[in-house]
Amino acid sequence: MNIAVVLDPEAVDAFADILDFFRVHPIPVHLTLFGLCPPSPSILCASVDQLDPEDFDVILDLRHEGQGLPSLGAEGQGKVLYGRASQSMAEVLRSLSDLLRDQEIHSGILDTATDAIITINENHIIVGFNRGAEDMFGFSKEEALGQDLSIIIPPPYKKEHRDYVRRYIATRKPHLIGKHVQLNAQRRDGSEFPMSISFSVAEVRGALYFTGIIRDITDYKLMEERLLHSERLAAVGNTVSHIAHEIKNPLAIIGGFARQLQKTPNLDEQGQHKLDIIVEEVGRLEGMIAEMRDFVKRPTAHKEPADVEALIDEVADLFEDTLKEQHITLNRERTAKTPTLSFDRQQIHQVLINLFKNALEAMPRGGELTVATRVQGPNLEVSISDTGQGMTPEVKANIFTPYFTTKEKGTGLGLAICQNILEEHGGCLIADSVPGQGSTFTIQIPLKEAPPA
Ligand code: ADP
Ligand code: MG
Repeated sequence: MNIAVVLDPEAVDAFADILDFFRVHPIPVHLTLFGLCPPSPSILCASVDQLDPEDFDVILDLRHEGQGLPSLGAEGQGKVLYGRASQSMAEVLRSLSDLLRDQEIHSGILDTATDAIITINENHIIVGFNRGAEDMFGFSKEEALGQDLSIIIPPPYKKEHRDYVRRYIATRKPHLIGKHVQLNAQRRDGSEFPMSISFSVAEVRGALYFTGIIRDITDYKLMEERLLHSERLAAVGNTVSHIAHEIKNPLAIIGGFARQLQKTPNLDEQGQHKLDIIVEEVGRLEGMIAEMRDFVKRPTAHKEPADVEALIDEVADLFEDTLKEQHITLNRERTAKTPTLSFDRQQIHQVLINLFKNALEAMPRGGELTVATRVQGPNLEVSISDTGQGMTPEVKANIFTPYFTTKEKGTGLGLAICQNILEEHGGCLIADSVPGQGSTFTIQIPLKEAPPA
């Protein structure tokens, strides 16, 4: 924003008010001074004749006597705010506030933007911080403005970022300008999150302002991880089923011959004992391989149109007694009209059982279990929330890993299996948790079946 300030030697106080105002609202603003200097040798003013209203968004006439600026023409007159003669300074500042707000809206620094938009000056000081940035970083605008940008940059990159800016100012060679970059950002509480940032630079009257538009890509990263995880699982699965397949036949032969030999009449006791052990161990291995194959076998879903609400009620009935025993109240929230969708009843039944069980196990001293259905975008969502102990971020990061368990008698396979089943349905399972308050597991099943890939 460009502001012309017209002064006379007695406008010192009014000018100080204006400077204070911009200290509180440090948005990119450029003041050009005209008229007679207040008694300060460091301030150079141009002559009022040189004031071209076209160059300015607003013209502040702070002179003590309202001489007016007749040379400006009608349009120029419309931009003038008089600081002394006809308006009080308070009124001027209020008008300026309004103007700044308009300016912010026009220049796209919309507080309704969900992206964080942050502007810094050449000295790496934050001069613009929108509502999206407040939400994303946990600093209020007042706290952030005037601070060094490093407050939102995690320690290892603090210096690096300042160097980028310095290098740009020195060379004007864009390195990151105009590009989308993925970096980690830091919230007020010190926690870090992945962000995607695009930079732009603007030169306002010889001063450079750098603006970053920042998007929190935590969800995107999670999705990427989930994908990687299921791919890794599939890779492990392939290897395991391959090995299992290769081992199965020779094992069957070893077992078969051993059983035949057991029946040999003239075998001494020691030989008999050894054969018994072979048969027993082969049996154990066969059992293990069968289990392994069961686990890694990608479930093929037999999808048929079915009623989700009825299925949930059925599962809730199964747990009725346990809920009572454990002093857990069940809240059921239904959508007004749950659509019928296609899924494998047996498998989704298993998913619900696993999630109910986990929720119950999280509330050994009672609590509340809330099961809600809702249509959300292209999906039907079933959320199962408990008021149990919740999960620490470390636990939450591992719950879908097969064999990961925090329970003495857990298998750690429940959630991995749920995830497999839901993926087979083109859906997914999302975990949310506040340690000490509870967890919510949300099942998403697409309303319309995706066309086969
Ligand atoms: P298991 O129940 O056999 O441990 P799961 O795969 O079902 O295996 O769950 C893995 C882990 O995830 C659990 O050991 C527990 O730490 C965590 N977990 C799952 N559901 C919940 C829940 N509702 N509340 C808190 N922690 C949970
Ligand atoms: Mg479980």
